[in-house]
Amino acid sequence: MQQRKVGKYPFSIDVEGAKPIEAVLVVGKTEGKTLVVTAGVHGDEYVAIQAVRELLNELQPQKLRGQIILVPIINKEGFYEGTYLVPEDGENLNRCFPGSKKKSVTWRMAHALERSLYPKADFLLDLHGGSPYETMTPLVFFPVGAGKKVQELTRNAAQKLSLSYMVQSYAKDGLYSWAAQCGVPAVLIERGGGGTWSRVETEACKENIYQIMSFLDIIPYNKQRQIPVEIQDAHYETAVSRGYWYYAKTSGTSFRTGELLGRLEGEDGCVQQEIYAPYNGVILYHTHSLGVTEGMPLMAYGKVCSK
Ligand SMILES: [Zn+2]
Repeated sequence: MQQRKVGKYPFSIDVEGAKPIEAVLVVGKTEGKTLVVTAGVHGDEYVAIQAVRELLNELQPQKLRGQIILVPIINKEGFYEGTYLVPEDGENLNRCFPGSKKKSVTWRMAHALERSLYPKADFLLDLHGGSPYETMTPLVFFPVGAGKKVQELTRNAAQKLSLSYMVQSYAKDGLYSWAAQCGVPAVLIERGGGGTWSRVETEACKENIYQIMSFLDIIPYNKQRQIPVEIQDAHYETAVSRGYWYYAKTSGTSFRTGELLGRLEGEDGCVQQEIYAPYNGVILYHTHSLGVTEGMPLMAYGKVCSK
């Protein structure tokens, strides 16, 4: 039998016509599953980026079973410029899956990530957070609509995470959601936001990664401070025009059918948009900026699953 080369091995994911994406393969002591952890798809979501940076130093390959592939900052240029977009072409990478070799840089990044990461992954964990204009409740999106097997496995994994909500997702065009469409069990964690990061949130993000590692038998980790509430029928509201945004409910709070959740006003004070609750539910995240442009996210909310 071939000897395992236990250790940490940097490698790069080549992107045609652009800088390669840096990654590290961590090989554990014994055979086991492969977890792929990605951060910085959006360069201004700092909790995840800092968590993976720290984890990379903390992990001791001798104590692991299987493999972990860490991609600390996918959109490195965006990170330094403080934007979620890929500066080279102004695209949102999480709307560019499946990727394409024939389109601009971001699409080629998506293509390269799919080709290099999906075939190796037994599980993929993509780490995000709220935008600088958003307040976010820690949550995990798991795919429903990518087959029963992926759905059950990712639901089981999500239930092991210390965070507030586990949200059923029908998305298809992101790094994790397209992975799920390709049969790779994958989830997306959202933690932090508002263009900030903190010690507490970074530790909480790392704990979530350990919880997934434990779920895959890579390392034992038995603590769980919080059990997520499952959310279905999530709604994502966007601004119909530019204006003044007055949210009436904040991230993490509950509401009842018919309650006003928020109102958008024009400069003249005329109401442009009013959002009323279509059911009893909870706010997942909300935009805290006063000024918003047309098409900007305003809030996301969902319904607590009845078991
Ligand atoms: Zn993001």
